[in-house]
Amino acid sequence: MPAAPALSAPQKALLKMGLARDIDLALHLPLRYEDETRIVKLRDAREGESVQIEATVTACEIAYRPRRQLVVTVDDGSDTCVLRFFNFYPSQQKALAVGSRIRLRGELKGGFLGWQMAHPTFRPAGGDLPTALTPIYPTVATLPQAYLRKAVLGGLARADLSDTFPPGVTQALRPHLWDLREALAFLHQPAPDVSLATLEDRTHPAWQRLKAEELLAQQLSQLESKRERAALRAPALPAKPDGLHEQLLAALPFQLTAAQRRVGDEIARDLARSVPMHRLLQGDVGSGKTIVAAIAAAVAIDAGWQCALMAPTEILAEQHFRKLIGWLEPLLAPRGLRVAWLTGSQKKKERAEMLALIANGEAALVVGTHAVIQEQVQFKRLALAVIDEQHRFGVAQRLALRAKMTHDEQEPHLLMMSATPIPRTLAMSYYADLDVSTIDELPPGRTPVVTKLIADARRDEVIERIRSQLAQGRQVYWVCPLIEESEALDLTNATATHESLGAALPGVMVGLLHSRMPVPEKRAVMQLFTSGQMGVLVSTTVIEVGVDVPNASLMVIEHAERFGLSQLHQLRGRVGRGAAASACILLFSAGDSGRLGETARSRLKAMAQTSDGFEIARRDLEIRGPGEFLGARQSGAPLLRFADLATDGELLSWAREMAPMMLDRHPQLAERHAGRWFGGKSDYLKA
Ligand code: ADP
Ligand code: MG
Repeated sequence: MPAAPALSAPQKALLKMGLARDIDLALHLPLRYEDETRIVKLRDAREGESVQIEATVTACEIAYRPRRQLVVTVDDGSDTCVLRFFNFYPSQQKALAVGSRIRLRGELKGGFLGWQMAHPTFRPAGGDLPTALTPIYPTVATLPQAYLRKAVLGGLARADLSDTFPPGVTQALRPHLWDLREALAFLHQPAPDVSLATLEDRTHPAWQRLKAEELLAQQLSQLESKRERAALRAPALPAKPDGLHEQLLAALPFQLTAAQRRVGDEIARDLARSVPMHRLLQGDVGSGKTIVAAIAAAVAIDAGWQCALMAPTEILAEQHFRKLIGWLEPLLAPRGLRVAWLTGSQKKKERAEMLALIANGEAALVVGTHAVIQEQVQFKRLALAVIDEQHRFGVAQRLALRAKMTHDEQEPHLLMMSATPIPRTLAMSYYADLDVSTIDELPPGRTPVVTKLIADARRDEVIERIRSQLAQGRQVYWVCPLIEESEALDLTNATATHESLGAALPGVMVGLLHSRMPVPEKRAVMQLFTSGQMGVLVSTTVIEVGVDVPNASLMVIEHAERFGLSQLHQLRGRVGRGAAASACILLFSAGDSGRLGETARSRLKAMAQTSDGFEIARRDLEIRGPGEFLGARQSGAPLLRFADLATDGELLSWAREMAPMMLDRHPQLAERHAGRWFGGKSDYLKA
């Protein structure tokens, strides 16, 4: 067999960019355009404009000050312009010899000495002018624009672009969407008289068509996975009257909030059905999600099944474990059932014991970290899996959990929990195959956390404040930012803070918690803080601050400008859990310029102004895009390329209505449509 021909560098780059099929090429849209259809006279040009001119070279020399450069003067008959090239080849110098006629384009700067252009592109004058705008595509260094342009136009000519929208479905939309082929042909080669603004803000009907196509594909894919799931079986777990969950509620020292009761009912309805639940429980930090999970667990246990709860870190898992043991074990013990505990750092013997309890069904509830989904873990009858802080687990882990739990061809019910509320548009798009329950109310008696912005230079005042809190018997968190590039740097920073706080607060126990500490040491530090002996806890392990110490009334966040808004909000939620007035101080460092950037400041101000997690999530979405919410890097969920959830809500609603109709009435069109957009890879957050 002859060997396959080796791929050239641009061919490899094309594949790497996912541009394999004709349709992929056709859907690779320009970032922007350049207008090479016109030759402008310098006399008519404006400062800052990107122009194309034709001119004669009148001077060409190398200057050495302020740095080595080729300085060329050209004259187009209406005015002159000085071109500067800082990197140049002898061949270019030759092409720019005095007397040459050239066609050049670049950005015009009006200097003191007349027009100037820095490294314009140029070629010999003459030849036809293009009749369409020149597209500039997103690309990589090994894939030149010209090569990519040709490949795209080839793909566009060959691709099957026949309509997959059922007839009449876009009639209600304004503006009227263009036909797909027409839209793509236009976006790759727009006529020069188009309003560039409508291309840039993507309001042009050609863009609208592509967004509608993309959103519909996304909805179809999610609806399909939702329907696939609906065809699966799960154990039906109807709540018994006067059952275990009622006993649990009766034993609690508090009453559930109305919101907790409502989401509890939503979950109970899912559990009672023989279709696997796939529900996200979202609620602000401190809204009381854990007890809701415990109630669901009680229902499953009461029906004779097991339940697993998985948390992303050992500290969080342990905290859940303690809480759940406290709530459930008194009720389970008389039935001969237990709560088991699984983590990576566990001693062999203890682990073996736990595994045995899980395998024989005596462990009605299993709490732990990733250890819960490891191979040796064999559940006897698992019916419900709860994943806390679900966005911190990858798709692979969620799939593993599901695979692990299948019992007699029955899938477990899945309850995911998150303190980062998903804005509505995201819930409707990326999470369309999830049912969502929201706790929109905090338990009573919480005092709102007062948030203050304070410049790092005023640290002394902050320390004074810490002293006064400690004097009232309160405790304090001090959070240092995580600098992803350098854990070592984190550590230096946190250690220094730890030392200086210790020195400033004699007689106070100041602890340090960071990501590289061994687990037993972490646990010991947490224990001292939870029990109230430790006054101040300095921590880098932002996530593990996911603890519940109601006596903590002040949180100081150092370099707050380096955190995401949702992250700050979650951190802040660690205080204000008791009845005492609580505060969060966002220390910001002004940086070298002596001033905090405008956006950084407005972000931090937003934190001080609102304590509404949804509002904060919405602003975070605006600032940072959906990746943050999806944990996209680990989930591998394809992000929307063309549609923008912030502006395309209307198209999104349309796609949501269209998808079920299309799957029901035009299944072949639906399949062709999804295939066109996703090819083989439509694994949209299926786990
Ligand atoms: P989160 O939603 O952030 O996980 P938790 O489940 O940790 O919140 O609950 C925060 C605290 O509020 C816990 O100490 C919990 O016991 C308590 N709590 C939960 N629900 C109520 C309620 N209805 N009334 C009073 N306290 C509650
Ligand atoms: Mg929680």
